[in-house]
Order: sequence, then structure tokens, then C-alpha cells
Amino acid sequence: MILLDGLKVASERNLKLKEEIEKYAPTFGRVPSLSIILIGDNPASQSYVKGKGKACETVGIAHKLYHLNENVSEFEVVQLIEDLNDNPNVDGILLQLPIPKHLDEEKLINLISKDKDADGFHVINQGNLYQKRKTIKPATPKGVMSLLETYQINVSGMNACVVGRSNIVGFPLARLLMDAGATITVCHTKTKDLGYHTKQADLIIAAAGRPKMITKDMVKKGAIVVDVGVNRVEGKLVGDVDFDGVKDIAAYLTPVPKGVGPMTINALLENTFELYLSHFNIE
Ligand code: NAP
Repeated sequence: MILLDGLKVASERNLKLKEEIEKYAPTFGRVPSLSIILIGDNPASQSYVKGKGKACETVGIAHKLYHLNENVSEFEVVQLIEDLNDNPNVDGILLQLPIPKHLDEEKLINLISKDKDADGFHVINQGNLYQKRKTIKPATPKGVMSLLETYQINVSGMNACVVGRSNIVGFPLARLLMDAGATITVCHTKTKDLGYHTKQADLIIAAAGRPKMITKDMVKKGAIVVDVGVNRVEGKLVGDVDFDGVKDIAAYLTPVPKGVGPMTINALLENTFELYLSHFNIE
């Protein structure tokens, strides 16, 4: 089994990105900048935001964290997003999810200017993605595609099974894989006999958020298995794939942690850089 080493690939890509930023910053008079909005004190979100800030520092992206109180009013969040939208020195804006229940997630995501949408969640950017137009792609699907490309895994002609159909992972990833020539099966909670579908697949993407749900009896010998899931079990992070069982069957497998996670962060940084370039009218 070949380990799809997301940490290594992301570090290499981050290094290249840093060089690109160093190349452009003197001309534009500033480095790219990312504003991160965190609402409340969810420990997992705090840890993700910290990781994103550190990663920005590694590549030379300026970042600013807006940490708002759990009970913040929607009006205040709207005002902050509008201010950031109007600020010419801000290239990317990220609203860390999930947000407290009293706030309208869809409204706030779509209030972020589509031209500053570092996560690629804006409805117009998603619409562009589904119409195969150039756009900012959601970070996790983009990161998974970069990981596969780096290992020269050509998905064209493969049967791919994506487990999960969320707007931010499963569904857009299915689209990107389809664009790359794979034949897609998308599974979800209404799927009957999940194992039947995963067992047909040359490529399995597990993105359900269910610890170790993909077991070795659900995987075809020689399959490529990408584990997007991040679950905290007894204080430890585990994926949606039973790594120890599946590693003897799969040809390629991502670890959790250090698999898709670092690739997602790298994609976020690359998105921020892309937004920065487009703010200076560079394609
Ligand atoms: P989500 O919004 O909760 O969506 C989960 C999807 O999985 C839904 O479509 C759901 O089906 C499906 N699902 C749940 N249980 C299932 C089951 N038993 N069988 C088949 N399908 C099932 O989650 P998400 O935001 O897409 O994230 C998915 C996982 O990826 C989570 O563990 C999350 O933490 C992780 N994640 C990791 C990264 C990273 O960088 N590594 C980034 C983002 C997310 P229905 O639509 O029918 O409900």
C-alpha cells in the first residue's frame, strides 16, 4: 500500500506558493491577506483556525482573526463581513463553520463577496463549478484532487464512489471527479447497501463523518481510498476508514490525521493567492 502523504505534498505545495508570493509581493506592494471569522468557542473550530493562521505565516499570507462572541447578533456579523468586503487590502474572507444556530449560515456565507470567497462556498462560485467554469473551488475537494494529481493517479475511466453529499465536500468532489473523467456513485444516508457500492469502486472517497465506517470487506483489492473524515473518538482523531483493516487491501490510502487535512489548508492558501492575483487583474 502506498500512503497518500497529504502532509508532505501540502508542505511541498506551500513552499512553491511561498516562492510565488515572494515573487509578486514587491510588485503589488503587499502580500495576500486572509480574514478569518470565528464565532464562539468550539474547541475543534479554534484548533482549525489556529492551524490556518499558522499555515498563512508559513507561506507569507497576512492573516487576521476576528473572534466573535457566541451570542453575537447577526447584525454585527453582517457589518463585519460588509466592512471586510469593502476593504481593498483584504483578499480572502473565511467564516469558520459551524456557526451558532441563531445565525443564518447560508445568508452569511453568501454575503461574503464571491471575489473574496476563500473557501469557495459562495453560491455563485459553486454554480460556476457545476457549470465547469473557472472559479474558486471549495478547499477540501480541491485539496483531494491535488493529492491525487501529485501521485499521478489519473481517475479518468475509474469507478469512483463518494460517500457523502454535502455542499462543501461530497457533492463538489463528485463534480470534480466527474470532470476528470471518473464515473461517479454518490452515497448518503438513504443509500441501501453502502458496501455494495464501495466494493465496485476503483476509488473510494469517504466523507461522511462516521468513524471507521469503511471496513476492509467494503473495499475492492487494489482500490484507492481517500479518507476525508475527521472524528474525535476518546480524545483521538480517526477517519471514516478503518485504516488498519483497509491498509492490507488498498493500493493507496490516506492517513488521518496528516492526509486530507493539510491538503485542505494548502488549497485554502492557494485560493487566497488566486483571489489576490485576480484583485490585481492577473489571471
Ligand atoms: P456533513 O455535512 O455532515 O455531511 C455528511 C454526509 O455524509 C451527508 O451527505 C450524509 O448523508 C452522509 N452520511 C452520513 N452518515 C452516513 C452513512 N452512515 N452512510 C452513508 N452516508 C452517510 O459533513 P461534511 O462537512 O461533508 O464532512 C464530512 C466529514 O469530513 C466530517 O468528518 C468532517 O469533519 C470531515 N471534513 C474534513 C475536512 C478535512 O480537511 N480533512 C474538511 C471538511 C470536512 P445525508 O446527506 O443523507 O445526510
